[in-house]
Amino acid sequence: MKADLHCHSNVSDGLLPPAEVALRAADRGVELLALTDHDDVAGLAEARAAAEGRGLSFLDGSEISVSWKDDACFHVVGLGIDPAHAGLAEGLAAIRKGRDGRAQRIAGELDRIGIHGAYEGAARHAGKASIISRAHFARFLVEQRIAPDFKGVFDHYLAKGKPGYVAHEWASVEEALGWSGDSGGVGVLAHPLRYRVSREALRTFLGEFKERGGRGIEVACGGHSAEEVSECARLARHFGLKASVASDFHAPGESYADLGMAPAMPDDLVPIWHDLI
Ligand code: AMP
Ligand code: MN
Ligand code: MN
Ligand code: MN
Repeated sequence: MKADLHCHSNVSDGLLPPAEVALRAADRGVELLALTDHDDVAGLAEARAAAEGRGLSFLDGSEISVSWKDDACFHVVGLGIDPAHAGLAEGLAAIRKGRDGRAQRIAGELDRIGIHGAYEGAARHAGKASIISRAHFARFLVEQRIAPDFKGVFDHYLAKGKPGYVAHEWASVEEALGWSGDSGGVGVLAHPLRYRVSREALRTFLGEFKERGGRGIEVACGGHSAEEVSECARLARHFGLKASVASDFHAPGESYADLGMAPAMPDDLVPIWHDLI
């Protein structure tokens, strides 16, 4: 089964409309797709219709932003969720509301170092999206030639410790897992090696995540080396988590990997979709 259970549309910070994401996945041989826009479910009906029209199995998803301890941020992918579930919808709406104030604070920090108009610029790139993410700021900063590419933007302006970074209170891990589970889905830790935390902190987080009902971990992540896949697989085995496959596709040519292009995962792991389809 060729699965891709993590990607974005222009409902959040991807560039393609939800239906186009699904059609592109079908063209690229994906057999099981989940659309997982940041903190929203608004694109799922459109993506599902397009996917099923092409004979693709589809899971409803959302990548939920979570805060942990002193300003660490993790992403929990809810998979197999019910987009109509009131608790989930209200929780995600609260996160989206918080994002707007955060975006204004990011722009305020950038203004202090002489980069003006970043809120309006990011909002312009966000267009009809329901959120402003740092990816929208990154597109603005690249457009303004303040940095040559996304890596430059994050390394110099938007990552933790850089001038455009602001602390923010996202949902709690309990909330993200609660909304996912209550709406009939499961919680999966996204891209475990991409957080700016020590390996020790990551393991502590995973212990809590598992204890609180987390069911899976992304093992085959877009752009990961064989070594990195092995490290994620060891985490999956150690914490008794099922394994997921994730391109984290945002846009053609911009992302670590295109749809369906995540590396293979070790055979001994139990795929998370065994519980879901
Ligand atoms: P936010 O949820 O607003 O903090 O924005 C996070 C988003 O920014 C991610 O989902 C990616 O789309 C993008 N992003 C974060 N770090 C990087 C990076 N190092 N390179 C490229 N994109 C990144
Ligand atoms: Mn993103
Ligand atoms: Mn993420
Ligand atoms: Mn993502």
